[in-house]
Amino acid sequence: NHLAHAISRASDGRHDATFLKDGRTGKVTSYGDFWANAERMAAALVALGVAPGDRVAVQAPKEPAMLELYVGTVLAGGVFLPLNTAYTPDEVAYFLGDAAPRVFVCEPGKLDALTPVAEDAQVAHVLSLGAGETGTLVPARDAQKPGFDAVAREALDLAAILYTSGTTGRSKGAMLTHRALASNSETLRDYWRFTDKDVLIHALPIFHTHGLFVATNVTLMAGGAAVFLPGFDAEAIIDAMPNATALMGVPTFYTRLLKDDRLAEASKGMRLFVSGSAPLLAETHDRWCEVTGHAILERYGMTETNMNTSNPYDGERRAGTVGFPLPGVEVKVCDPVSGATLSDGEIGVLEVRGNNVFAGYWQMPEKTAEELRADGWFITGDLAMIDPDGYVTIVGRGKDLIITGGFNVYPKEVEGVIDELPGVLESAVIAVPHEDFGEAVVAVVVAQDRASLDEATLKTGLAESLAKFKQPKRIVVVDELPRNTMGKVQKNVMRDTYADLLK
Ligand code: ATP
Ligand code: MG
Repeated sequence: NHLAHAISRASDGRHDATFLKDGRTGKVTSYGDFWANAERMAAALVALGVAPGDRVAVQAPKEPAMLELYVGTVLAGGVFLPLNTAYTPDEVAYFLGDAAPRVFVCEPGKLDALTPVAEDAQVAHVLSLGAGETGTLVPARDAQKPGFDAVAREALDLAAILYTSGTTGRSKGAMLTHRALASNSETLRDYWRFTDKDVLIHALPIFHTHGLFVATNVTLMAGGAAVFLPGFDAEAIIDAMPNATALMGVPTFYTRLLKDDRLAEASKGMRLFVSGSAPLLAETHDRWCEVTGHAILERYGMTETNMNTSNPYDGERRAGTVGFPLPGVEVKVCDPVSGATLSDGEIGVLEVRGNNVFAGYWQMPEKTAEELRADGWFITGDLAMIDPDGYVTIVGRGKDLIITGGFNVYPKEVEGVIDELPGVLESAVIAVPHEDFGEAVVAVVVAQDRASLDEATLKTGLAESLAKFKQPKRIVVVDELPRNTMGKVQKNVMRDTYADLLK
């Protein structure tokens, strides 16, 4: 159940086999060299005092050495914590403060800005890692000998903390166990038929679950190769296709690739196209089929769970759906209020259970208790329905939805329009109980200058831009929005505060 063992098995003894091929320079990293360096990384981390359970945080470019650091951390019994390369020093400060890593690795060019941030967070060691084997981590690695034996870990010990994308609020640290990561990647490898003959085009970032735990772990577990690209580049991907077998991408990969007229020819020898992380339009799916003859395989997952559902390898890959629960994963659609399981065709909140599910949110026991039931079901927060054939469709995010008089209203849309009004600093749109409508849309607005804003003017300002049912029944002007210690607007507190507003 040790993740390091699970991902090393397929390449055991195959030292010369290719793991990574740089998509631009053609430079090849063999499995033998990769593992030797990963073991050196592990030894270097131990030399820095990394003990089992210690976090190793990294904000660095997509390079083979970052994957060595990932595997090295896992070998050393540490907890790998990659950060989005777009995060600013202020944002990095939150993550370092929250996760309290022992080691932090950043780009050489960011050392000046981030060293004080790391010191504030009491990080013991700050090292750097840049493009082309630069940075202080490289000599630290090279000073060590390969041949590191993985530090023993239990199935339910943490291998990584991955922060969620922060789409619905502040990013939360999802605690991912050895078992969750190992079992999910193994399932995906088998479900999608990855073998050591596969060559995956890897153009996703490796700080996110899609590029790290889906694309990288599946490649490692299959003992296959990956064409490593620093990011999305239509031309480079098309160039790579004739010598590759598979591509994993987000939907925009596919819409952009469709614009290249070399696609039909280049994709002929490809085996598999996988899409996820956001909804793939049925239109894109159909168009891809017309042009390439391949049905894109859409799957659904999240940071907290890795992958939950997938369209089938054989059988119909149904456009607009995310397919069936993966082997070992149970799913159900529940009434958002009562929690009761709904029937086929009904829309409700999707819950999932299985070895893939995370161990909870890092340092957020209350949030964990809210979303992870004692019997193992995780409330994803996504709205979904299951059709009579068993295909799951994701309908949207449940947390944001207001249902007023039977109409669905997405607060984000309304907030966007309000924030554009003159004199508005920020806003939060919530549902408030209403006798006729069930829920009513209510906006809470912070003014630049409170005296100059009144409800009537704001309402008039919205009348033309929003359909009647989306327009707030009441607009309350306040000095500030309630926020938790993480800076997140507490809509649950606001719902309590304004519960009687329309009674
Ligand atoms: P946060 O949890 O911080 O608000 P986030 O949910 O966007 O951010 P991720 O874990 O990166 O963070 O994204 C998971 C979410 O992405 C899912 O809950 C779902 O809403 C969406 N998603 C992933 N795959 C698909 C898909 N195939 N179709 C539709 N939505 C998808
Ligand atoms: Mg989420």
